[in-house]
Amino acid sequence: MPEILIRNADVVVTMDGARREIAQGDVLLRGGVIAAVGQGLATSGAVVEARGCVVTPGLVNTHHHLYQTLTRAVPGGQDALLFGWLQTLYPIWAKFGPEEMFVSAQVGLAELALSGCSMTSDHLYLFPNGARLDDTIAAAGEVGLRFHPTRGAMSIGVSDGGLPPDALVEREAAILEDCIRVVDRFHDKAEGSMLRVGIAPCSPFSVSRDLMREAAVLARDKGVMLHTHLAENDEDIAYSLAKFGCRPGQYAEDLGWTGDDVWHAHCVKLDANEIDLFARSGTGVAHCPCSNCRLGSGIAPVRAMRDVGVKVGLGVDGSASNDAGNLILEARQALLLQRVSRGADAMAAREALEIATLGGAKVLGRGDCGSLEVGKRADIAIWDVSGIEAAGSWDAVASLILCGPSKVRDLFVEGRAVVREGQMLTIDLALVIERQNQLARRLI
Ligand SMILES: [Zn+2]
Repeated sequence: MPEILIRNADVVVTMDGARREIAQGDVLLRGGVIAAVGQGLATSGAVVEARGCVVTPGLVNTHHHLYQTLTRAVPGGQDALLFGWLQTLYPIWAKFGPEEMFVSAQVGLAELALSGCSMTSDHLYLFPNGARLDDTIAAAGEVGLRFHPTRGAMSIGVSDGGLPPDALVEREAAILEDCIRVVDRFHDKAEGSMLRVGIAPCSPFSVSRDLMREAAVLARDKGVMLHTHLAENDEDIAYSLAKFGCRPGQYAEDLGWTGDDVWHAHCVKLDANEIDLFARSGTGVAHCPCSNCRLGSGIAPVRAMRDVGVKVGLGVDGSASNDAGNLILEARQALLLQRVSRGADAMAAREALEIATLGGAKVLGRGDCGSLEVGKRADIAIWDVSGIEAAGSWDAVASLILCGPSKVRDLFVEGRAVVREGQMLTIDLALVIERQNQLARRLI
């Protein structure tokens, strides 16, 4: 791959150990990695002018359900709490098949890319009508993002006292079998990997205790990560106390669901002991502020988590509970939400940007991503701050979170241009949107 020199950025935000910000900065990409960061760099390869721009590491999304882009703003789910919202949407999701999974994933991934995201996880936990994890993996291959899909699952249907309809749950033996299949087929543990698979039963209230335990054993055997929803809202805590006789943190710890190879989505209701458990064990958190606002779940104690060293990344969460999938705006929302509960000094703009980049990379176990340093992967977002959103700004880096823009100008993933001048280069976005709208109409 030829060299690319990103030149003359107003500021390069490195997120390196010293959190250096380089004025009139350059970044040199070679072979999918960062070859140099500094000023006055030269190349015989291509040059991308970045005057009037802030350059940051690509943003990292740690929680999503890409398939839900097909069920945004569904009237029956617009104003419901979590459990009611799920019960409205389950019958619609039951009509999905491989094409719905593929197209909706392309839409969600492109939406993320246009908001500066270079790496995302996905949590797919229902597989109706022949849908497979393979469908979203194919979509990510075309869109060109670094992808951490997780093989989710639900096994306790209504007839067994669970929440999902029986048609959407699977037998636990079949779930584990398919987890093994997708890990063996797709997981790439190498440095610079574009595809890592995780194992992710949907939540403690949709699978059995046995499956949670066996999933953890399997993940460790295969060397892949574990992910689920945890302590999302008050109903979630009440369910855990009533059904398991303990809080979610205890449940997770008892079943092997803590450690630096585990990350949990939401964690809105973690108490001080659970936060301490997460810090001690290296367990990560996918903080989803817009979803938490949208579903009225509460304010995750992110300030308290970070103060004791819990790894925190951002997640846009599924597009049925956000309903947007814009990751830079999610960083802004994270900042605002901490300030609602803790005051204006609860989170600085630079900390929100750190959570959105380096923080997410740490949660996903990616020491090779999340900062602009020599040898790290060339995942880079270029933000044009010369437009209306930041006009009059005194601090280009802070304004990225406080003002905008909310769309990236250019995005590189593994040194490859995925977005250029605000346009997707890898897929025909107009065609994908048209197909998505056709599929959505068919579901009504
Ligand atoms: Zn979720």
